[in-house]
Amino acid sequence: MARYTEAVCKLCRREGEKLFLKGSKCLTDKCPVEKRNYPPGEHGDKRSKPSGYSIQLREKQKVRRIYGVLESQFRGYFERAERKKGVTGVVLLQLLESRLDNMVYRLGFASSRSQARQLVLHRHVEVNGRLVTIPSFQVKPGHEISIREKSKKLALIHNSLKRQKDAQQLNWLDVDKAGLKGRFISMPEREQIPLDVKEQLIVELYSK
Ligand code: SF4
Repeated sequence: MARYTEAVCKLCRREGEKLFLKGSKCLTDKCPVEKRNYPPGEHGDKRSKPSGYSIQLREKQKVRRIYGVLESQFRGYFERAERKKGVTGVVLLQLLESRLDNMVYRLGFASSRSQARQLVLHRHVEVNGRLVTIPSFQVKPGHEISIREKSKKLALIHNSLKRQKDAQQLNWLDVDKAGLKGRFISMPEREQIPLDVKEQLIVELYSK
């Protein structure tokens, strides 16, 4: 599948904030947003006042980039969210949070969602004891996510867990770091999703 292959740090600079797409580098002073917090390109540091539409568009792009999904996929998530009961913007975030690659990241087995996606694609992850190689697989409350027995020594998983040892524990996930597994306990409420975005702007954008 086509994926965005340009330097991902440019995506953060485009949005004017850290999207945490590169794992450990994001927490260091090597992060380009720390040094050049203006959009990439020749006229990047000459920002004009954004219109209402561009604010909505940027919010959508930000969320899409955080979760690493393509435009068509993102639109699909939105349409599914619209059909479900509940507040569309919140349901949209819940669907994105339930992706297997996101779960692997949230459990701390990878230091970024793109690294989590690689773990899934490279056959290191099981759901309820069965190998799953689809990063967009929708995990349901009650499902157990685990690292395959033969992958349990992978350094990148242990390094990621070490880096995140002080990270805030999400109460909708139950992590067993020693066993390299975790359980999706319940669908998170909006305030339980640590994401600084205004999802209502995305609903407004797509409702035009
Ligand atoms: Fe974004 Fe991380 Fe790159 Fe900083 S280091 S610009 S937060 S991806």
